[in-house]
Amino acid sequence: MKTTILRLSIAMATLIYFTAIAHAEDDTIFQTSTIDALMEGVYDGNFTYGELKKHGDFGLGTLNDLDGEMVGLNGVFYQVRSDGKVFVVPDDARTPFAAVTFFEPDRSLTLAKPLTCNELESYIETLFPSKNIFYAVKIEGSFDHIKTRSVPRQKKPFPPLTEVVKHQSYFELDKANGTMAGFWFPAYMKDINAAGFHLHFITDDRQAGGHVLDCTVSSVKIEIDYSRDLDLSLPETSGFYNADLTEPSGSDVSSVEKGKK
Ligand code: ZN
Repeated sequence: MKTTILRLSIAMATLIYFTAIAHAEDDTIFQTSTIDALMEGVYDGNFTYGELKKHGDFGLGTLNDLDGEMVGLNGVFYQVRSDGKVFVVPDDARTPFAAVTFFEPDRSLTLAKPLTCNELESYIETLFPSKNIFYAVKIEGSFDHIKTRSVPRQKKPFPPLTEVVKHQSYFELDKANGTMAGFWFPAYMKDINAAGFHLHFITDDRQAGGHVLDCTVSSVKIEIDYSRDLDLSLPETSGFYNADLTEPSGSDVSSVEKGKK
């Protein structure tokens, strides 16, 4: 009897130990390339979506040749093209920039109050236990209005992102049900990823979405996944190897990501 109890407790301790390890790994944000490289026109990556899925089931990014906006939810990665059409990204497609994680919320709450995107983001920041770590953020529910954009596929020689966004497509949706997926990074991360919020959106019917520029929420569930780990994988491409990344592009990133001119 004693042996059985001992074996059982060892088994339980092992289970707790491995559960803790699995949980710690799940909290890691995995990223390929840097926002600075994307700003500089490094639109070819060697990382496939099949590989990306091993590092997360949730996130955002783009596809090679900057072919639209990508949003990942529940293990499915969607491409929102610049013509507004939505496709499921095949495993053999490649990405020049993406950030993903296995989404497990540490904090979850519902909000039934009309707020603009700016107000919503300020409110979510008050929920963070610190402004010095990373967060994956999921906002699901009904939106009175949402404005998104997507970028057109590029040909070599690739222009910088500040040029591409001059030809971006805008999409405006009223009374949309869907989910925003993305991240919040501290300002000190601005050359690695976008500082502050970066959110992509997809409707429940998976017919529309894009990079979020503005919104008014009516009733949403907010989920926040705290993260203190970043696994950064740099592209093994001539585009990345030869890009001039000596000039930080933090202010250009905020104009490109927030749509501010
Ligand atoms: Zn984006």
